[in-house]
Amino acid sequence: MSLLLGPMSKHLPGHKELTSHKEIIKCKDVDKIYIPLAMGTALLEKKVSEGDYVKVGTVVALRNDHFYVPVFSSVSGVVKGFEKRMTSSTKMAEHIVIENDFKYVVEDLTTLSEDASKEEVVNFIKEKGIVGCGGAGFPTYFKFVKTDGCQTLLINAVECEPYLTSDYLNMKENLEDMVLGIKTLFRISGASTCKIAIKKTKKEFIERIKELFKNETNIEVVGVSDVYPMGWERTLVYEVLKKRYDKLPIEAGCIVSNVTTAIKTAQAMRTGLPIVEKIVTVSGDGIKSPCNVLVRVGTPVSHLVELCQGYTTENIQLIAGGPMMGNAITNDNFVITASDNGLTVLKYQEVKSMACLRCGACVDHCPSAIMPVNINNAEKTKNVDRLLKLNVNACIECGMCTYVCPSKLDVTEGVRRAKRFLALKGKK
Ligand code: SF4
Ligand code: SF4
Repeated sequence: MSLLLGPMSKHLPGHKELTSHKEIIKCKDVDKIYIPLAMGTALLEKKVSEGDYVKVGTVVALRNDHFYVPVFSSVSGVVKGFEKRMTSSTKMAEHIVIENDFKYVVEDLTTLSEDASKEEVVNFIKEKGIVGCGGAGFPTYFKFVKTDGCQTLLINAVECEPYLTSDYLNMKENLEDMVLGIKTLFRISGASTCKIAIKKTKKEFIERIKELFKNETNIEVVGVSDVYPMGWERTLVYEVLKKRYDKLPIEAGCIVSNVTTAIKTAQAMRTGLPIVEKIVTVSGDGIKSPCNVLVRVGTPVSHLVELCQGYTTENIQLIAGGPMMGNAITNDNFVITASDNGLTVLKYQEVKSMACLRCGACVDHCPSAIMPVNINNAEKTKNVDRLLKLNVNACIECGMCTYVCPSKLDVTEGVRRAKRFLALKGKK
């Protein structure tokens, strides 16, 4: 068992070359966009009714549970109604259907000056609905409300998932916004140091970023190893700061933010626009022309597939996100949201699994230092006490246990089932 040490430090084939050198292509605007009334497992309040006219930047839905996150229209047009569809988190949810009038009338939007106070910035990020763009979609403002004890702002530019290059392209295309976003988040974090973590292998790019921050003595670029899951918060905090924490990075004196989130913050400050467009990587051996696509939020994935010249074969495996932590989805009707950053399309391969060899590879490679094989066994017998002892909820669903299993068992799915079982029993 190794937390962040030893054999778990595994380099995975990145396949980044499929898209990293290509230009970003703009997806054609579609007749209708669909805004899910769900964010992960949370349900959203609808703020519009059938027949309403909305503009680019109109609030159409609101998350208002323990988090506050407004959700916006990415086009102007008329609300045609509501429709149930699957989301990128593989949940069925009602979606707002907005018919695009192709006029792109924009709401009266507030911008924010670079010298705004911390309170103004936090409130601005909150009202613009900025969420983590690394895939998790965590509301960004929340990390910066209470920053007592924060010594380091850690900018996560690692992008460790195979195939995905959208963070890298976002940085390359938006260097000025990246600088403004990082400086702004650094200022409101109250930290004395900012570290930008990026893979060591990107030597030239590291030099370019260093040059951009050469006059900022407290902002440092840190090269990290090209291993999976280096981009996971816990791994990264340990790698860069040699600190561990129980629940949140702030316990280790640190706030972690994805680099695209910093870019989106700067773009919102400059233009007043919330996240209405995303750069999304579409890659894998199941798509004819892998590339990064600039797409309006609410666009069905089928349009991205069409832009990338379709599938290479009939039997494909579609994954919202990267192949390790993404969600396998049965069709391409789901839509791109503000937190989505990739679509992996792989040729379907039948997997013939065998009985567990008790080799311990899944245990050795688990970055959460839990025992996936034992969890799988306890899940089969529905043993609640044993599952709690095995600390199932520490699993980050990184997919590593399945990846290393010589018996080709879907160990991660067994752990996911165990997590769902405990959640049903109210033992989150
Ligand atoms: S999916 Fe969960 S149990 Fe499996 S290696 Fe990753 S963290 Fe460990
Ligand atoms: S890696 Fe696979 S075969 Fe080895 S102990 Fe884990 S589940 Fe069993």
